[in-house]
Amino acid sequence: MTSPHLASPSPSPAARFLAGYAPELISQAETLRLEGRLGDYLARRLPEPHQVRSDAALFDYVQALKTRHLRNAEPLQHVGFDAKLRVLQQALGTHTRRTQVQGSRLKMRREIRIASLFREAPAALLRMIVVHELAHLRELDHNKAFYQLCQHMEPDYAQLEFDLRLYLMHAEESKCGPSAGPPQAGPRPLGGPPDVPGGRGAP
Ligand SMILES: [Zn+2]
Repeated sequence: MTSPHLASPSPSPAARFLAGYAPELISQAETLRLEGRLGDYLARRLPEPHQVRSDAALFDYVQALKTRHLRNAEPLQHVGFDAKLRVLQQALGTHTRRTQVQGSRLKMRREIRIASLFREAPAALLRMIVVHELAHLRELDHNKAFYQLCQHMEPDYAQLEFDLRLYLMHAEESKCGPSAGPPQAGPRPLGGPPDVPGGRGAP
């Protein structure tokens, strides 16, 4: 049951954003998307906004969580929002630790970069992604120990990572940007677009 062997020609958006999740969950998410109910679902699940707008505010936010849960981890050298970071591929996907070569020494940079879209994201999702990045101070890979640490810092972590994937899927759809990789079937005109928070209307 855990090995979905769906040989569909082009994966649905839900299958892309929820790769690795149970097929039932993927199809439920795809249904929400097709029915234009993703925005409503997210607004109900994640109603709280946050006020972390600047790199300085983000630093304080991250530092507070680090002090609480990972007091002995090495100090952070940089914390900031990053407009180029792609959440699905880079933050949730495979990780590469940034290293700097200096002379003969290989130095690890302790930095936390958070994709800019989290400035506007619900509070719970900011917390989730910060917890994720903090856990990487201890565990490089997305292994069992990594997720246990995430769960320790944020008991609702697993659900929130799922919600984040839905949020990203909804954001991509609302934006309808052409820069999202492989060509994909656009949302079908089901009688009006879903509510787009802060979205633009017709050009
Ligand atoms: Zn990661």
